[in-house]
Amino acid sequence: MNARDIAAPLADTPVDGPAWRPHGLLRRLGAPFAVAQPPQALPGVHWIARNHGLAAELGLGAWLAGEDALPLLAGNAQPPHGTLASAYSGHQFGVWAGQLGDGRALLLGEVDTPQGPMELQLKGSGLTPYSRMGDGRAVLRSSIREYLCSEAMHGLGLPTTRALALVGSPQAVRRETVETAAVVTRVAPSFLRFGHFEHFTHTAQDTAALRTLADATIAAFYPEARDAAEPYAALLEAVTRRTAALLAQWQAVGFCHGVMNTDNMSILGLTIDYGPFGFLDAFDPGHVCNHSDHQGRYAWARQPNVALWNLHALAQALLPLMGDDTETALAALQAYHTAYPEAMLAAWRAKLGLAATREGDRELADDLLKLMAQDRADFSITLRRLAGFSTAPRADNAPVRDLFIDRPAFDAWAARYAERLAAEHSVDAERAARMNAVNPKYVLRNHLAEGAIARAREGDFSEVQRLHALLQRPYDEQPANEADAGFPPDWAAQLEISCSS
Ligand code: AMP
Ligand code: MG
Repeated sequence: MNARDIAAPLADTPVDGPAWRPHGLLRRLGAPFAVAQPPQALPGVHWIARNHGLAAELGLGAWLAGEDALPLLAGNAQPPHGTLASAYSGHQFGVWAGQLGDGRALLLGEVDTPQGPMELQLKGSGLTPYSRMGDGRAVLRSSIREYLCSEAMHGLGLPTTRALALVGSPQAVRRETVETAAVVTRVAPSFLRFGHFEHFTHTAQDTAALRTLADATIAAFYPEARDAAEPYAALLEAVTRRTAALLAQWQAVGFCHGVMNTDNMSILGLTIDYGPFGFLDAFDPGHVCNHSDHQGRYAWARQPNVALWNLHALAQALLPLMGDDTETALAALQAYHTAYPEAMLAAWRAKLGLAATREGDRELADDLLKLMAQDRADFSITLRRLAGFSTAPRADNAPVRDLFIDRPAFDAWAARYAERLAAEHSVDAERAARMNAVNPKYVLRNHLAEGAIARAREGDFSEVQRLHALLQRPYDEQPANEADAGFPPDWAAQLEISCSS
């Protein structure tokens, strides 16, 4: 029996809900970019989590707090203008994968918000023309991870798609084992991916459509590119800069995406498609968070280069709009080679609490990372404890020093650090405050998510809500939640987080 056979019927009468914009980007473009596709209803739907803070920001607070929102966000009712699925393609694990698309996602609509127009998208709402071999569903486990991590990344101050709500259903969904279904409502100005552009160049081979898509993207999101001598090269360069900035931020908080396929790269430089992501624990630059990534293609330390590889794929897709002039495309991509290292160095200066810019700062950061890697020091805990580093004479600095096995090596680094701080007349307390504002105390480690998932499977969603609240303030001391800032338990190392979702 498949989901379609036992699904409850869709409500006959379309539900109004928010003040939908009649002409959102995808709706205006229509075919071949997006096709009408109703969601498939789920039985026994209920809230698992609602993001009232985000709803208030979007002007949807009262609506989300009421019960009218549930049918729409469960995919059990349609907005009056219907829902849309879009076509994209992509490179997966470095190999051209051909057509992909919204296989289990649907655009509900676009709303005007104080931050500009935002799209609301369901994920897990049933089959679409792009479902391929999939069932169009998302399981509770991965949906909780996506909901929590989207909001954790936002709390950290990183660009990301947001999560508005999480709906559960007892509907069985088969993965490695039988799990239950869930639907996440995601929010972003756009869910366009590099893969949308690749689609019209390589799969549809429709340059007119490619141009329409690029023009609409420029008009909506990169208006400054319109007046450039080469608007499409300017678009590519702007996306390159946003992606470089994003990657520097991922690396700086120890975030590992896990599936950096070109279909999972946002054209807006947002973190998108949370699957087998992870935050670094004991520091290993070669850490691979996705159990299905046997080659380690998306290892933490490789992410910045993978992003550039993906940008090359985007450049290739945009080439027909640049008169197939490879030089122009390569020149636009050049921005990455300066933007990324500059952003990364600035991030590390901030993480070390350095207010000024001096020769040797990069080596100071690199050498700390080398020591951390050699001794497998915990990434978040080490940097957080470094805020408490005292430059007072004969200070023992045990809390951070004890994280290292090679104490003489740490002491030698600490002496250089103290000297560097003295050179800019750094005041310990002020530096600590600066460092605590960029080195998070709380990150969504796998074992925390796993605890929330285990409870949710028993019907108790309080841990999802507790973690959501906790991760909204990741830089704050939260004495009641000290345990969540600790080292991962031993069992966490056995967790295998795969692409299965
Ligand atoms: P992902 O690895 O989650 O980024 O997904 C890659 C592609 O597979 C996208 O086109 C998804 O829409 C599609 N996909 C993933 N899981 C499913 C599913 N259960 N049903 C239908 N399509 C899916
Ligand atoms: Mg994806």
